[in-house]
Amino acid sequence: MASKRDYYETLGVSRDSDAEEMKKAYRKLALKYHPDRNPEDREAEERFKEAAEAYEVLRNGEKRRIYDLYGHAGLEGTGFTGFGGSEDIFSAFGDIFEGFFGFGGRKSRRTGIRRGNDLRYDLELSLEEAYRGKEEELVFDRWEFCEGCGGSGMEPGSEPEMCSHCQGRGEIIRSQGFFQIRTACSTCGGTGQVIVDPCKECQGNGKLRVERKVLVKIPPGVDTGTQLRIKGEGEPGNKGGPQGDLFVVIYVKEHHFFVRDGDDLRCQVTISFIQAALGTEVSIPVFDSDEDKIITIPDGVQPEEIIRLKGMGMSSLRRGKGYGDLSVKIIVKIPTRLSQKQRELLTEFVELENQKIGTKTRDFWDKIRGA
Ligand SMILES: [Zn+2]
Ligand SMILES: [Zn+2]
Repeated sequence: MASKRDYYETLGVSRDSDAEEMKKAYRKLALKYHPDRNPEDREAEERFKEAAEAYEVLRNGEKRRIYDLYGHAGLEGTGFTGFGGSEDIFSAFGDIFEGFFGFGGRKSRRTGIRRGNDLRYDLELSLEEAYRGKEEELVFDRWEFCEGCGGSGMEPGSEPEMCSHCQGRGEIIRSQGFFQIRTACSTCGGTGQVIVDPCKECQGNGKLRVERKVLVKIPPGVDTGTQLRIKGEGEPGNKGGPQGDLFVVIYVKEHHFFVRDGDDLRCQVTISFIQAALGTEVSIPVFDSDEDKIITIPDGVQPEEIIRLKGMGMSSLRRGKGYGDLSVKIIVKIPTRLSQKQRELLTEFVELENQKIGTKTRDFWDKIRGA
């Protein structure tokens, strides 16, 4: 067996850290290595267990004292063995997992009351839809209480029996040295009762997979990663526990013309060097109208110059009805094939430019001579 890591090192806390710091450190690790987040990942599972064991020892004054004095060997002497599996960890530290996004709710050992699971729905939107906001009907399957048995899982008219494994207590208490380790009874799932005549409609599950439609209002300005929480649209809780929530996670697709940068948009337009010199007008698509918007490019605009248009960017979630800006980058194209006439005109233009330079140069020498 590989040697065990130091508990303080495992949690990433100093040896004099207090309960609050340790709880925070453990919560962070538990979230990171949570089995729901790392399915089938043995390494994460080990880390998850390792962190729970470290926290179990360090949060307990007596165990911590023994560990500080005698290390791992000292605890082994007391019969402490850590945790067998994730279920033990959930039942030991239920409150730590409360409020974790997307994970199963807390299970109260005494009553079996449990908040329903949160659900996640990934919604893909175009940039235009994200700009305008929209109403979307989400269709998904979720567990709902079986109407046949009212969610009890028992055939109507039948009675449950006391769980013989835990004598109806719902938990198993193992004594090891002078420690007691409590875990939820796996036979009855912590309820203390077992169903002998399961409901035929739901096979004793108490729940059925049902198609659900929810109309969701997507506000303007959402971006990739935005989470909308629809309260009470998750799965039902156990024994009257509250319904979980539905989280709509937004993904905004790339646009062919605009690049999004927070509340701002960027795009580029290509004009000829003549247009750059003389100034021009270009049309740009806008999301709040079917018609393009005409914008004016001033004469003398330089290649790669950026024109910033206030309020022509994305609608903003943060600023309510506000909008970001649009940055238009000017790409200047140099013609590669000129007609005879164009060549003549440009040659004439160059001569004019030369004269201009010539005049200036002459002025310069005149000044020198005059001085
Ligand atoms: Zn039991
Ligand atoms: Zn049923």
